[in-house]
Amino acid sequence: MSHPLSDRITGLPVSQTLSMAAKARELKAQGIDIISLSLGEPDFNTPDFIKEAAKKAIDDDYNSYTPVEGYLELREAVCRKFKRDNAITYTPNQVVVSTGAKQALANVAMVLLNPGDEAILPAPYWVSYEAIVKLCEAQPVSITTGIEQGFKMTPQQLERAITPKTKLVFLNSPSNPTGAVYSREEMRALADVLVEYPDIYVISDEIYEHILYEGEAFSMAAFEDMYDHTITINGLSKAFAMTGWRLGYIGAPEWIAKACAKMQGQITSGTNCITQRAAITALDAPVSKIQYMIDEFKERRNLVFELLQAIPGFKVRKAQGAFYFFPDISYYFGKTLQGTSIENATDLSMYLLKEAHVATVTGDAFGAPNCLRLSYATSTDALLEALKRIKKAVTV
Ligand code: PMP
Ligand code: GLU
Repeated sequence: MSHPLSDRITGLPVSQTLSMAAKARELKAQGIDIISLSLGEPDFNTPDFIKEAAKKAIDDDYNSYTPVEGYLELREAVCRKFKRDNAITYTPNQVVVSTGAKQALANVAMVLLNPGDEAILPAPYWVSYEAIVKLCEAQPVSITTGIEQGFKMTPQQLERAITPKTKLVFLNSPSNPTGAVYSREEMRALADVLVEYPDIYVISDEIYEHILYEGEAFSMAAFEDMYDHTITINGLSKAFAMTGWRLGYIGAPEWIAKACAKMQGQITSGTNCITQRAAITALDAPVSKIQYMIDEFKERRNLVFELLQAIPGFKVRKAQGAFYFFPDISYYFGKTLQGTSIENATDLSMYLLKEAHVATVTGDAFGAPNCLRLSYATSTDALLEALKRIKKAVTV
């Protein structure tokens, strides 16, 4: 029987972060002792003060459809957050709340990209950027940045990638998968290139802004001359350990926000009412309330960095933010480990799953075929064991 699916879905790759996580879950269910370093998901529970706000919202009978763009009180809280943390002034009509930052990103891409437009993706980039651009029938244009340049694109690389068809540039600092953070000066240098191209817009994905160990997470829209050309994306998933609650948001020029609300109004409507009420409490809370999670991530980062450095053939750079390491493992290409020939990062990732029972994500998913992603959003004990197993598996 033929399954006449559209070209759109047939050509779409499966999210490799989600599929590796599913594979790890499946093997675990078969009784295999898998340690999953695949998914970028905090292992903490949502803080109690946010859970209390959600319970209250249920008791207060928040159960109807919400305004498509989000409750006004929430959009006001988002504006306060942007002002407090990012020095960006937005008004509520410039804010749209969505079902995760993922939907917020998809909305923006869909309302700005025409078929044939180009979107610049500095690689390594988060998996879904490329897929979303392709869904819009636009062309992803990848800029390669290796470990030796700190996985950050230079202004010269950006300038070279721009063509008359360029419509969007994706930025993600702190970065998933590398943990790299652009300094204010580096952001300014990129802005200096972009201000010369008024037809180009920047999507600045700042979802890891609070998960920062060194330096400053600077927002592109805080530069006055970039404000009208930047869409700032954020969400609750990472900093507040609320991945399943599904809430993301944008701050953008009003015409873009309006278009995103129009798009969302035909696809999902406003996001969950209980989550939105809880989000007001989360966003109004001082960052000190979630500092314990950031402190814990920092300790794990230091530990994993030390352990990774001790693994032969793993070239690693210390992450400044987020909760991933992205070692260059190309040393193993062309080698054979316990009878398995390793030709690429996917081979090594599958070998580690099979032999060490550790799930990682291949760098191919992030446009960086020499690397592997390891998430350290898991317990210290699991990390110690996982790194021990990896070391053993590659030094046989
Ligand atoms: N951007 C980046 C860089 C991410 O790592 C994630 C995590 N999935 C998202 C966006 C989407 O987050 P969510 O949809 O859970 O808000
Ligand atoms: N952002 C997380 C990751 O990269 C969650 C998975 C996803 O949404 O793709 O692993």
